[in-house]
Amino acid sequence: MMDVEITIIGAGVIGLAIAEKISEEHNNVFLIEKHPSFGQETSSRNSEVIHAGIYYPEDSLKARLCVEGKRLLYDYCKKYDVPHNNCGKLIVATSKEEIAVIEGIRQTAMKNGVDDLMVLEREQIAEMEPNIFALKALFSPSTGIVDSHSLMKQYETNTINNGGQVVYGSEVTGIKQIKHGYEITLLDADKKDYSFTSGIVINSAGLTSDKVSEMVGIDDDNLKILFCKGEYFRVNPSKNRLIKRLIYPVPHHNLEGTGIHVTIDMGGGVKLGPDVKYLDSNVYDYKLTASKQETFYKSAKKFLPFLEYDDIVPEMAGIRPKLQRPGEMLRDYYILEESGRGYPGFINLIGMESPALTSSIAIANYVYNLVTGIN
Ligand SMILES: Cc1cc2nc3c(=O)[nH]c(=O)nc-3n(C[C@H](O)[C@H](O)[C@H](O)COP(=O)(O)OP(=O)(O)OC[C@H]3O[C@@H](n4cnc5c(N)ncnc54)[C@H](O)[C@@H]3O)c2cc1C
Repeated sequence: MMDVEITIIGAGVIGLAIAEKISEEHNNVFLIEKHPSFGQETSSRNSEVIHAGIYYPEDSLKARLCVEGKRLLYDYCKKYDVPHNNCGKLIVATSKEEIAVIEGIRQTAMKNGVDDLMVLEREQIAEMEPNIFALKALFSPSTGIVDSHSLMKQYETNTINNGGQVVYGSEVTGIKQIKHGYEITLLDADKKDYSFTSGIVINSAGLTSDKVSEMVGIDDDNLKILFCKGEYFRVNPSKNRLIKRLIYPVPHHNLEGTGIHVTIDMGGGVKLGPDVKYLDSNVYDYKLTASKQETFYKSAKKFLPFLEYDDIVPEMAGIRPKLQRPGEMLRDYYILEESGRGYPGFINLIGMESPALTSSIAIANYVYNLVTGIN
């Protein structure tokens, strides 16, 4: 007999969404988080964009779970009054070369089931966003923004109301396979070791999910996470009202990031970013680089002609948990029940980078099906 039926490691947006879904059907569910509250890492350091699912390779989990996830997320936000705004997004071409890329993006999107993109000419762009510069654009009506803190709070509330236990200030330091399950060791809030047993373990530990996977014995070079930092600059609030939608440049060919873009947040603020920088080592480096002002300014000025150099100040940084090596093509999410490696009932989620916030409910449903398949 196990102490706990299902343990979920990590209370970011993914662990919380999984906890909510699984606690609907299972009584003995534990969500363990090392910080004193939820969402203290990547889930509170991102663009808060509800992505449409435009760029990802056909049939990838990233594409499928994003397209399904955005629909589920909009429905959820309406049901629980989570602040969000289906504001739409423009992908703008500012040169002849970029115009050529736009049609390719539309075709990829169509393959992913995103069939509502519209190609806009200059006059149409001027009607929608009179203050930006673009030769041509793709308009994505289903893109939006969400208040990620409120979303996570709702996932947490529903988990607790379902009878799930959410344990903060406890770091998982060891996982040992035992008969019919796993023994998990924690360093609790009083810095004391504590062990318990769990039939099923779900690893949604974000930036250190590869380390948690190693704890059980899965040490695979292919699953090593690289920290990839993205910094943001805040635009002077006096310019907040000059754009109403998200404005993105045409993306890099290998999708390491989607280019320094312009997002609005639920408070009406405007920010630029994130950029893309692989860190030399996996350290939590959230330092801001004021010297990047020139680069951010120049990138955004191409499509925001109203922007002045002094309009932007460094704001925040987030870190992507990347499986993709620098220069490589995009890697898909790794979401697997590890029976194949000899660890039945151990579910790994590794490389859960963007658009995983958008996809969080679809990911939770996917993991729920994996749990249901465990006999
Ligand atoms: C710059 C940037 C911009 C982004 N923009 C978007 C966007 O606009 N739209 C979108 O959909 N996605 C976006 N994303 C992606 C999105 O933010 C992430 O995919 C998502 O937040 C990942 O959630 P998570 O729960 O997997 O990870 P996390 O939020 O990192 O949560 C993992 C949790 O596990 C805990 N943990 C780790 N190890 C242990 C342990 N041993 N014991 C206990 N707890 C542990 C951590 O403390 C953490 O709280 C962006 C990401 C970045 C970095």
